[in-house]
Amino acid sequence: MPIAHWINGQSATGGTRSQPVYDPATGLSHQEVLLADRATVESAIDAAEQAYPAWRDTPPLKRARVMMRLKTLLEQHADAICRLITAEHGKVLSDAMGELQRGIENIEYASYAPELLKGEHSKDAGPGIDSWSEFQPLGVVAGITPFNFPAMVPLWMWPMAVVCGNTFVLKPSERVPSSTLYIAQLASEAGLPPGVLNLVNGDREAVDTLLHDPRVKAVSFVGSTPVAEHIYHTGCGQNKRVQALGGAKNHAVVLPDADIAGSVSALMGAAFGSCGQRCMAIPLVVAVGDGTADALVAGLQRQMAAMRVGAGNDNRNDMGPLVTQQHYEKVKGYIDQGVEEGATLVVDGRELAVRDDSGQISQGYFLGPTLFDHVRPGMRIYQEEIFGPVLGVVRVGSLKEAMAMIDAHEYGNGTCLFTRDGEAARFFSSHIQVGMVGINVALPVPVAYHSFGGWKRSLFGDLHAYGPDAVRFYTKRKTITQRWPSSHDAQHATFSFPSGQG
Ligand code: NAD
Repeated sequence: MPIAHWINGQSATGGTRSQPVYDPATGLSHQEVLLADRATVESAIDAAEQAYPAWRDTPPLKRARVMMRLKTLLEQHADAICRLITAEHGKVLSDAMGELQRGIENIEYASYAPELLKGEHSKDAGPGIDSWSEFQPLGVVAGITPFNFPAMVPLWMWPMAVVCGNTFVLKPSERVPSSTLYIAQLASEAGLPPGVLNLVNGDREAVDTLLHDPRVKAVSFVGSTPVAEHIYHTGCGQNKRVQALGGAKNHAVVLPDADIAGSVSALMGAAFGSCGQRCMAIPLVVAVGDGTADALVAGLQRQMAAMRVGAGNDNRNDMGPLVTQQHYEKVKGYIDQGVEEGATLVVDGRELAVRDDSGQISQGYFLGPTLFDHVRPGMRIYQEEIFGPVLGVVRVGSLKEAMAMIDAHEYGNGTCLFTRDGEAARFFSSHIQVGMVGINVALPVPVAYHSFGGWKRSLFGDLHAYGPDAVRFYTKRKTITQRWPSSHDAQHATFSFPSGQG
């Protein structure tokens, strides 16, 4: 049976096309996923539309209680969910657990719905007049998510959307469908009424249907920049509210006064965790001064030699495979490109051979951690998002030079600075043209009660994902001004604009 959809609280087939889902650690496929056609997506939108009036009128506290029950279920089923993530994405199990935990934190935040939706109230805005703002849901909203966080990124979106009173159609990545579907089924078990969360597996046809159906009022997207840009412009052209988070190329700057050993350890996890397939990964280290660069390269080389690469479900491994054969070829191509462009290849991941349990060379999509030195702006390996275990060291003479380089880059998702100098750190965090900044923190992913988003070509739209911005994104403000005159108040016409004067 192919992996199906989840519509109106039950499993649903639909669409005549399907595609294989691979285990990246073996290169084998044991399953197919259905690709929804237009009619299937429309049936999911129908279900969401029908569920909307009753769900909109359900008190926020009751909506929040579903989230509280879901949190418990996610914790109880964490092992099964993480095994599905690893089997389709390839990341090591401990990393899958980390992603799920960050997703659960979004559920915890969503369970504060009554507090988040309280609105704003002004008694006596005028004589006998009260005024308040309330935040009303939009209706049916949609989410489209990438392959690299099959549990966490959907949980950035739909829990906040539904606690705000909307109903949802989710289109996860067709490359890693199973854990996302499993969580949608748990949401039904937690008490989410049929039709409030619907999931359609699919590709461009499904996305286009969501973008063009006038019943879908808002679209949240996370994925690569070219697709984000397309989604943003098409969705806005269809009068939808759109937030589209795109790709990244994050720089870590290391000053000469930094704790070099600590910086190296932090950079190892940030560059090679999840095989470099994170939008907050660090693929570029900007070393200020040749001494800093030499020390970093030596430290990185030492730690890279000790890294274990292999199947994600073996707890001894630090790094798993890339997600697909096609992506493996792309990342390997960038290493070839870096050599051609004249960067110094210090550690070559192309030489890695992983053996399976029977001692044979694995057919999985394994690429070893790779280190380039003397990377320069203008090289494709500097400019473009590689999304693999490839780290480049760029050498500069000053913090000012490092910051100018970061500001000139088209992406502005995350960045970080390693230093012991508070003044430099404060200047960097205040002035750098990037949306998420770490000081001695390599992966500054905001906690669930802040919001996540980059600048420049890493985000299209005004509001960031999850946290307080999600309340604004998934609701529209209504402001009500109310007067109950007492029976002895004189009622006479006034022709001047109402003001607080007098
Ligand atoms: P992708 O853009 O290929 O796919 C993302 C989603 O869009 C998938 O659901 C896919 O089915 C759909 N899609 C793909 N091509 C489409 C098209 N032409 N028209 C309509 N829909 C289409 O991205 P990916 O490879 O799954 O994920 C990796 C990318 O996501 C990287 O660029 C990474 O930086 C980015 N990402 C960004 C963030 C962030 O928060 N900024 C977070 C995670 C991943």
